[in-house]
Amino acid sequence: MRRTLAALLSLILLFSLHIPAFAGDVFGQYTSELPAEVAIHCSEEALNVMGVEDLDKLVRMVKYRAQPQAAELLRTSFPAFEEAARNNQLGTQIGLNILYDDNNAPMASVIWDNNLDDEDRFFLSYGINVNAFTLAERDEAGNLIRDPQTGMLHMTTDNASLDAFACILTHEMMHVFMNDYNRSGMSGVVDPEVSFLPAYATDEDAAAAIAAQEATTFPKWFSEGCATMLENAYMCMQESYDELRTFGGGGLDGWYSPEDLRFAFAETALPDGMEPEEYEAMADMQPSYDLRASAYVSGYLACQYLSELAANSKGISACSYTPDGFETIDSAVLRSGLNDILRMLHEGVTLDDIIYSISDGRFYDTEDFERAFITDDDDSAIFTASLLNYLLRITRENGRSFPANGSVLYPFDVDYLTQIDCTKNAQSGLYQIIDSNDLVGSTANLDGVSDAGKSLSTLTYRSGAMLGAVPAYGYDGDYSYPGDPACIYGGYYN
Ligand SMILES: [Zn+2]
Repeated sequence: MRRTLAALLSLILLFSLHIPAFAGDVFGQYTSELPAEVAIHCSEEALNVMGVEDLDKLVRMVKYRAQPQAAELLRTSFPAFEEAARNNQLGTQIGLNILYDDNNAPMASVIWDNNLDDEDRFFLSYGINVNAFTLAERDEAGNLIRDPQTGMLHMTTDNASLDAFACILTHEMMHVFMNDYNRSGMSGVVDPEVSFLPAYATDEDAAAAIAAQEATTFPKWFSEGCATMLENAYMCMQESYDELRTFGGGGLDGWYSPEDLRFAFAETALPDGMEPEEYEAMADMQPSYDLRASAYVSGYLACQYLSELAANSKGISACSYTPDGFETIDSAVLRSGLNDILRMLHEGVTLDDIIYSISDGRFYDTEDFERAFITDDDDSAIFTASLLNYLLRITRENGRSFPANGSVLYPFDVDYLTQIDCTKNAQSGLYQIIDSNDLVGSTANLDGVSDAGKSLSTLTYRSGAMLGAVPAYGYDGDYSYPGDPACIYGGYYN
């Protein structure tokens, strides 16, 4: 039986990424001397623009250095992932596609797809896209440098660009880990019988499938917020965070206050002299808007706050005061709170129920939290102001090379760009890049796992459903994927 997710995909297809498949001799002159890994992973356009030698360097940097380090960083930073890895509940392989796109495609992104195998068993597949354009050598003004002889581009050797890539890859890998560990909320598939519609499905079936998917899928602020907690979020979105304290009229010299945050998040206030467009940009901050600023900028803050609440429910807090009265925030406590939230989801507690219980009922469910966060809840506004003030105070310290990073993977006051060294070889048993530029079926064994998404828990995954996945599956060249469109915050550090 041929089933399709088409109706559902159209809902979430914010942005589709077309991946050219490697087919035989499309590279013409290069074919004979093309290194196997370049032939497998790189698009024809990337090859035409950057050439064999530099793409070979790029593939190796991603495959043997950045990617295994990012996987190990996540495994060792979260006990929940460590345990899942031991139980084969995280995948061991993934595809890599190196494209060239000078039109706003992000530096890296994760693509995934929900599939049924020949026996109608659900499995998930995923792959990493890397945009060679964003890793090409540039001059100090940010312009591409072309080889004077060949006109080709070279891969950057600039540490800052590689560090930016490493941060984004860490963010992307969090999506991949959650694709397996928190599959319901990431995939939106609660029951393959409901989610995958036969071609002859009735309107009622389609409506039920869409309703189930909406009730299961994590809101974007949550899936992006979790991933953004691990990257250099404060550093690379500093402008947006600055707006949260200057929006109400204060200058850049000021500090954050709960009142200014509430003002910036509020739907109703339109200050004198402010243009409606400007106002809307800030109103986008509300998590419920499900837009770029809300997903990344506010998603980061909202997930930090939920992590603090999860810690509070165990009697600890990330916030404390130094003897001279300065408030400090312990990133390890927030990381541990996030770990607990992911684990509860994996064990079948919905995000609705988690939010209700860790807030002692202050937020009724996910939707109520989205509505009230900062805007209509003092505790969240006070915590968020404290966190941002702490990061700002670190940023203003004398002698620093960089602004505060903002990742919970390291102490907030460490002066660094990224935890990953793209010049260092590494190995990981998780999500190793295999010989495929396509989506690769997850090997995670979720036999017996009944995890939870936003408002629904899955049926227990059917025995062997994941094990039936093939490493890579046929690609018909005319397919689009629900992608992860907006992981674009790294930009370029020159
Ligand atoms: Zn993302």
